[in-house]
Amino acid sequence: MPENFKNFIAGEWVAPRTGAYFENRNPADSDDVIGCFPRSGPDDVTRAVASAQRGFAQWSRTPAPIRGEVLHRVGDLLVQRKEDIARAMTREMGKVLAETRGDVQEGIDTAHYAHTEGRRNKWAMSFRRPIGVAGLITPFNFPLAIPTWKMFPALLCGNAVLFKPAEDVPHTAHLLVEILLEAGLPPEVVQLVHGEGSVVGKAMVEHPEVPVVSFTGSTETGSIIGATCGRMHKRLSLEMGGKNAMIVMDDADLDLALDGVLWGAFGTTGQRCTATSRLIVHERVHDRLVTLLCDRAERMRLGPGLDAKTDVGPLINEDARKKVEYYVGVGRDEGAQVLTGGGRPAAKGLERGWFYQPTVLAGVRAGMRVEQEEIFGPVLSVIKVGSLDEAVRVNNDVKYGLSSSLYTRDVNAAFRAMGELDTGITYVNAPTIGAEAHLPFGGVKQTGNGHREGGWEVYDFYSETKVVYVDFSGKLQRAQIDTET
Ligand code: ADP
Repeated sequence: MPENFKNFIAGEWVAPRTGAYFENRNPADSDDVIGCFPRSGPDDVTRAVASAQRGFAQWSRTPAPIRGEVLHRVGDLLVQRKEDIARAMTREMGKVLAETRGDVQEGIDTAHYAHTEGRRNKWAMSFRRPIGVAGLITPFNFPLAIPTWKMFPALLCGNAVLFKPAEDVPHTAHLLVEILLEAGLPPEVVQLVHGEGSVVGKAMVEHPEVPVVSFTGSTETGSIIGATCGRMHKRLSLEMGGKNAMIVMDDADLDLALDGVLWGAFGTTGQRCTATSRLIVHERVHDRLVTLLCDRAERMRLGPGLDAKTDVGPLINEDARKKVEYYVGVGRDEGAQVLTGGGRPAAKGLERGWFYQPTVLAGVRAGMRVEQEEIFGPVLSVIKVGSLDEAVRVNNDVKYGLSSSLYTRDVNAAFRAMGELDTGITYVNAPTIGAEAHLPFGGVKQTGNGHREGGWEVYDFYSETKVVYVDFSGKLQRAQIDTET
């Protein structure tokens, strides 16, 4: 005779008031009767609800850690009986054993997770507080965007800002501050102090009443600022150099890659932190891509940025052009071939600006200085590789880690590379540039110090988290110690 199972009501295993039962059979074998179960009626339900109300009154007053302990023990018992329960479940429900074992495991995981949730014992909340005066030191290449990346979140969080723009772009900074004031920012909330980094920037960083500093610029300056902030226990966000690479695999859409590399390498005259300064190309498409690239690069129009026909504007100043010229010389000495560019443009009208031709260095090998060091100009080093693994290795083997890019149609390869490319940002089928405001921006290794701008993370940087516990039990509850009722 199959066993008659019971209801559990009001703390007892009891027969149904109806006295009626139904059979439960194995769906894989209809002769196999597992048991007879109560065909309960409304009376049984009423009794159960009344009991559960008493249970609720008791349990809702039981401290959450105690509730969690019970669930923890439930999880442990499920672990012990996992196999028995899985077999019983398969017999009753029909799905294969691996699946019913998984079914039990899910219960174990849920119990153990609920247990840790139970440690949230006191009524608590966390919120953000502003830090104080934020010192913002910015570079020349994004005269408006980079200051706003720092300033707007800093202000939103409730800080006052002290802003020192790069010496080459003070006018845009002035225009920005005018807008803030016009928009109604109380005048003492923003301060704009122009001047030299080594004087004004340094004084800001060293000032004891500037507890938070955000810097974008060279790794060398970032190191100096980092040392000071470390010594003074200041909160510091650093955004520094890059040596970003675009990888083009043999299955890539070459037209797309070509448009991407031209934009990535020569947009902003190569003066972006995320500029594509290395092109790592699979050997099977190397020659074709490089030919197309040089052809297009040669046809780019240099000129003043205010001229609508201009593709590539000047470098920021004389030193920047000298640096580019120096590095092209280094590349030649190291054995790279200058396939296009490699000099100042001869065109009339450009002699009074800091122009330099879009330049492609081919035959570059991993480890050369032009492959390792940031040039910050319109110079692209092309490296030939034989596989994605090699491409990733070359990408990663530099001291910087800001942005990377991969052109391929192989979705599996792309997903693998996303994890392996050692940069803070990776683009797939897009060049290394093009950050968006709602996503975190920043790099690894010597590019940064772990902070991000943009996205939600930047609000973390400009605020301190405050946690408040309110214990309304009326007695001392010692955390982790008082776990009994
Ligand atoms: P870049 O090579 O992009 O010009 P820099 O690091 O030289 O980068 O400059 C970025 C910003 O840092 C500029 O606003 C500059 O004035 C400032 N700066 C330069 N030197 C220092 C310093 N020692 N302390 C603080 N700020 C500095």
